[in-house]
Amino acid sequence: MIICDTHADTLYQIACGSTDKLDVTMERLEKGGVSLQVLAMFVGEDEDPVIIEKRFADMLAAFEALIAQGWRQAFDPSEAEAGVVRTMLSIEGCEVFASGLHTIAPYREKGVRMAAVTWNYENALGIPACVNEDQGLKPYGLRAVKEMQRLGIAVDVSHLNIAGFYDILNKTDAPPLASHSCCRALRDHPRNLTDGQLRDLFRAGGFVGLNFYPSFLADPGQPCDINTLIDHIDHMHQLGGAGMVGFGSDFDGIPSKPSGLDNPSDFPALIQGLRKRGYGEEPVTSIAGQALMDYYRRLPQDRV
Ligand SMILES: [Zn+2]
Repeated sequence: MIICDTHADTLYQIACGSTDKLDVTMERLEKGGVSLQVLAMFVGEDEDPVIIEKRFADMLAAFEALIAQGWRQAFDPSEAEAGVVRTMLSIEGCEVFASGLHTIAPYREKGVRMAAVTWNYENALGIPACVNEDQGLKPYGLRAVKEMQRLGIAVDVSHLNIAGFYDILNKTDAPPLASHSCCRALRDHPRNLTDGQLRDLFRAGGFVGLNFYPSFLADPGQPCDINTLIDHIDHMHQLGGAGMVGFGSDFDGIPSKPSGLDNPSDFPALIQGLRKRGYGEEPVTSIAGQALMDYYRRLPQDRV
């Protein structure tokens, strides 16, 4: 079976020097049977372009150090195969693209295949969900999104507000994905997607990687375990998401985990939980990783 995970903040933790308490290690990826781990280069809070550039250089250096240790880089999810761990680069927060469209292609050449328009701060492209829901993409943001799509970079709407989400859906020609998001109908949090967004995203041929953060899965004070997570998967399937839902753990970026799902070595327990819930082998295979690979095949091919 191919297991894919569309979001982890491991490179940021390494760049910050927190290497002793990582969730994502090669040993755990191998134990969990993960075939494709997407590793985000995360901008964080700083708005100073010099600091952002430096942080990205540190995260790229951290990635190159992993490759030097024998980690494999995937340049496309179609490379994923059972029994082999590969990693693929993404960007979380497009602050690095602020100074012009020419800044995007060099990251594509380094293997970035996914980029979230914003993190939790407004930037040159758009507005995150935690700031407001009704101000769409900026004119430059729309141009940058189209350039990403032209280069074969999947546009990631996790963290983006609703108006920006619909600008991408209505004004561009490639379906976006949400690399690490959950259902707002089950947990009313601005980081989660509304039923309307989920329906429209699935109708457009998009993809959602489910976030494992208990604060996005369950109301405060409520228990959160693998079944809570599967409730969100069920809900997405009810909204037309069959074949378009997978995992976007957010490991190394979340301060707490659902019980029984502490790091990548626990993916088999999650797969088993899906089977126990009544999912057959075909939907289980899809959710585990095939849905992500299928999503990339739906994107317009690289038009460079
Ligand atoms: Zn995030």
